[in-house]
Amino acid sequence: MAVMTSSARPLLNRRLTEFGTTIFAEMSALAVSTGSINLGQGFPDTDGPEEIREAAVRALRDGRGNQYPPGPGVPELRTAISDHQRRFYDLAFDPDTEVLVTAGATEAIAATLLALLEPGDEVIAFEPYYDSYAACIALAGARRVPLTLRAPSFRPDLDELRAKITPKTRLLLLNTPHNPTGMVLTAEEQGAIAALAVEHDLLVVTDEVYEHLVYEGAHHPIAALPGMRERTVSISSAGKTFSFTGWKVGWVTANGPLVAAVRTAKQFLTYVSAGPFQYAIAEALRLPDAYFHHFRADLRRKRDLLGDGLRAAGFEVHRPQGTYFITTDITPFGEKDAYAFCRALPERCGVVAIPNSVFYDDPDAGRTQVRFTFCKKEDVLREAADRLQRLAS
Ligand SMILES: *Cc1c(COP(=O)(O)O)cnc(C)c1O
Repeated sequence: MAVMTSSARPLLNRRLTEFGTTIFAEMSALAVSTGSINLGQGFPDTDGPEEIREAAVRALRDGRGNQYPPGPGVPELRTAISDHQRRFYDLAFDPDTEVLVTAGATEAIAATLLALLEPGDEVIAFEPYYDSYAACIALAGARRVPLTLRAPSFRPDLDELRAKITPKTRLLLLNTPHNPTGMVLTAEEQGAIAALAVEHDLLVVTDEVYEHLVYEGAHHPIAALPGMRERTVSISSAGKTFSFTGWKVGWVTANGPLVAAVRTAKQFLTYVSAGPFQYAIAEALRLPDAYFHHFRADLRRKRDLLGDGLRAAGFEVHRPQGTYFITTDITPFGEKDAYAFCRALPERCGVVAIPNSVFYDDPDAGRTQVRFTFCKKEDVLREAADRLQRLAS
């Protein structure tokens, strides 16, 4: 029911009326009220490296970042982000003009879309969408144009992408590794997308928060491709890579004019992001290669553990190439509606999952898809898999 004032005008502005409570809030509340294992929202149940937690404590105690840090982010972190892009991808960004620290990737996405879009612009984005994309495109007054990733491979259809580009298309919004499907764009796909962006003079925004969670193949930033450096805004975050999702430290790397545009919007959203955590993440980005290797190997093991359990319980499992998530299909159970299935699952099995169907505009494309996260302790994943075996009987 819409909230009304006495003048009978809805309180919530009409750009946001289609966005009620997020599915994560709804399903996490269900997890609490039923005492279920929550494999819905993607947050680890183990904190990141002890030395990074201690670095945050030290910064707090030493009075570093307890007062407003500089708007673009503390220099130590901007330099560490620049060095990280060079170390992993051989990309050079000037820490003073080409790096911007944000309140998580979420703010980076919002500030970027608010800065770069005019009302009426079209944004082509993969569906299923990460939920904030649709809302931020709407806040900017722009129109989302979905490029549907279809099971079982979830590969984008690049002919369909070409066909969807119109004179109103301003921006391609990419996400690789892709949440929720686990699809990772290949170098060839990125090359083809980049060529279209150059041909049609489009901006590209890439959400790369799972850059260090690729299990097959490798992550390739599209910004590294010819003609892309000057038109790409790359977004990432410390939350997923270092298992501190509550710290909300994210960043943008792009050329100077793009960063200046995004900064203009960002300064009126949060002005700055929490100071002491920025110093700690500056240290995290300099962790040795072994950290990144172990982190990936740990999550790969968990992916396989949960994937085996889901398969044994009777799900069709789409093996993810990256991220924290496994997308399954519930058709083998004779089920036809992922949302109804997820609402009933806590009572049936004591496990919470997320229906991918809510992340699609095309109601048929994701109707029977259910997402589980595996960024949990192995005994939690084993217990969840055991509980889900009840579906098989
Ligand atoms: C988690 C996530 C984000 C948000 O990152 P924060 O740094 O927590 O704001 C953005 N995009 C995708 C695809 C995510 O999965």
